Amino acid sequence: MKISVGHGLADAEKRLEERGVSRRDFMKFCGMVAATMGMGPAYATEVAAALTADNRPSVIWLHNAECTGCSEAILRIADPYIDTLILDVISLEYQETIMAAAGEMAEKALHDAMKKPYLLVVEGGIPTKDKGIYGMVGGVTMIEMVKSAITSPNCKGTIAYGTCAAYGGVQAAKPNPTDAKGVKALFPKSLVINVPGCPPNPVNMIGTVVAAIATVTKGAPLPELDGDLRPKVFFGETVHDKCERLPFFEKDQFAPSFDSPEAKKGWCLYKLGCKGPSTYNNCPTKKFNPLDKGVGVSWPVQAGHPCIGCSEPNFWDKMSPFYEMEK
Ligand code: SF4
Ligand code: SF4
Repeated sequence: MKISVGHGLADAEKRLEERGVSRRDFMKFCGMVAATMGMGPAYATEVAAALTADNRPSVIWLHNAECTGCSEAILRIADPYIDTLILDVISLEYQETIMAAAGEMAEKALHDAMKKPYLLVVEGGIPTKDKGIYGMVGGVTMIEMVKSAITSPNCKGTIAYGTCAAYGGVQAAKPNPTDAKGVKALFPKSLVINVPGCPPNPVNMIGTVVAAIATVTKGAPLPELDGDLRPKVFFGETVHDKCERLPFFEKDQFAPSFDSPEAKKGWCLYKLGCKGPSTYNNCPTKKFNPLDKGVGVSWPVQAGHPCIGCSEPNFWDKMSPFYEMEK
């Protein structure tokens, strides 16, 4: 495959090679991203071009009220190269979980990163009660940190990564003691794309970042979003629509318990609480821990656990009790 994208690709390849990631691995990664985005293998070239464009924005990644499981989902991905690839090629300038800097050095890193164009990634819900005092970093409330980053003219768009950043998540579950909110609820005028999940599938996040970078560098259209601001390419169908247990659902064959022979034979988990019919996500087709062509090893329902609706707004309140049938 011949790629002509200026110096960016050569520089990226050199950096990755120094970390033990070959050009072949990089193109394999780009092919996986293309497949995740529902595109053919030829689109891998476009992905490579977007990720290595000289004028691509950097990424600033802010953490709020959360468990950091969304970051962990990327960092613990099965393929040992993917975390290196993601963290290197997207020009991650500021990420509190993995950066070496701390204290005033970290504050300076954020200040410096905001001097040039960037994509903002927000992870975690934002506590708003009592002027946000229940969520502070270095004496600054999370509201103020996100506000200064999202309203800067250098911010080219924001991705709310994970259900907490998108809709408030577990922090916003009743009684929501800190009045936690998602990004769009707090900053309704800002351009925000939601990539929900608890945690999200990292490949959905990578695909969204690539699409956003292509928009900034080449003017490509943003992915089409649904009413909850999720890219339809990843969240356009319900979990139920593509579930391998669907034929059993259609024949009224429901597993009576998790340890039953019927559950092991693949019968439907609906009567054990599965919320797949009300949940939009691509878990059955993309699965988790991607191998070649972007399809992972397994997913919760395949492993015998019902979907709990983690990519839906307010799922902690709306979808619980998790092990009872939907009413
Ligand atoms: S296990 Fe869940 S998602 Fe799968 S067919 Fe049954 S209800 Fe639908
Ligand atoms: S199967 Fe349901 S609960 Fe599990 S990760 Fe997918 S959307 Fe979330």
